[in-house]
Amino acid sequence: MLALAPLAPQQLTQIAFRDGAAALMSSKPGGIAPISSNDVLKQDPDLWYDDGNVVLCTDTQSFRVHRSILAARSTYFKRYFQEHGMFPDHEIRLPEPGEELKKLILGIYDPSFFEGPPHKADFRDLIVFTRLGFKYGVDHLARRALEHLSLAFPTSLERWDDNNAATFDRRAISAADAVEALVVLRAVRATWLLPTLFYSCYREHSLTRIMDAPAWQEMSHERQKFVVRGYEDHVDALHGSLGFFGRLPTGECKTHAVCEKVVKEWYVETLTWKTRHPLWKMTAKKDKAKSLEKTCKNCRWWAKLYHVEERKALWDLLPKMYGFIRTWEGFQEKEKRALADITAFIEESNDKAGSTPKDSKEKPWTQDGMD
Ligand SMILES: [Zn+2]
Repeated sequence: MLALAPLAPQQLTQIAFRDGAAALMSSKPGGIAPISSNDVLKQDPDLWYDDGNVVLCTDTQSFRVHRSILAARSTYFKRYFQEHGMFPDHEIRLPEPGEELKKLILGIYDPSFFEGPPHKADFRDLIVFTRLGFKYGVDHLARRALEHLSLAFPTSLERWDDNNAATFDRRAISAADAVEALVVLRAVRATWLLPTLFYSCYREHSLTRIMDAPAWQEMSHERQKFVVRGYEDHVDALHGSLGFFGRLPTGECKTHAVCEKVVKEWYVETLTWKTRHPLWKMTAKKDKAKSLEKTCKNCRWWAKLYHVEERKALWDLLPKMYGFIRTWEGFQEKEKRALADITAFIEESNDKAGSTPKDSKEKPWTQDGMD
């Protein structure tokens, strides 16, 4: 029994301001209150400038900062101050968790607070800087976050296999963070990251854990079904990755009876594998391929070749398997375009999010962005 709440797919990102205006991609202002209402206890000691002229408030913390600095780095604040003028000290109430807004402000004030690759990154920070970087139009933070993510969640098999440039361990991401990242990256339309993020999520976590993630409830029923189907196809793909057994022993085998026995035992053993890693590598020094050494030279050579071919075919199939319309080539093009001009990409994503008709939110995961 799945506990599927009928929630809108982008609900996570459509947090309401206290005045009720829709938020994530909107340029609508938060509520305005006189500065005297600010609770002294909430003043953040690290970000409370004596000469600040605007106070940003969250439920837990308040920050007295400078309008000119916010406006210079954030298209959201620039537009906000243009629309509301530069009248004396006031508070802007924002719906973000206090610690996340603090990171955004630190990232705005200090260019080295959040560096791009090759600096190491914390995955949670990447979610925060992607979400808030897009929402508040802080280009350098959004771009750096996407650069980190693109190294770990690449769009080619070569880059997937050669993961040395990655700035965080994609295998150490919790189910909660992975599901939240799926929702956030979908909302900002950084969709080229999704196929390999889905792969990692399905590889590392059971469906139960995925459904226990808080962000699961932020997905529409349709999208939840889509994730479940993707998971099932992913698990089935492991059996698809074992097609080479049917082609062994090879015709060039010199010890047919021996190789046939080994291959058969090896195949039976694979039926007990608990892994959800259909892109497993036969060449890796893992116990998965130890039987290979017991076959003849010819069978070994052909088994490796068949497996490489089948592995490549599975990689090519991944986007379609998870329900995407785009191919890897399409995603590569999108990745290149987005990272080449992040300002335009953020504008475009925010425009689309703001103009998405309500009924399209019930459509499957991929369709509203035509990916
Ligand atoms: Zn053989």
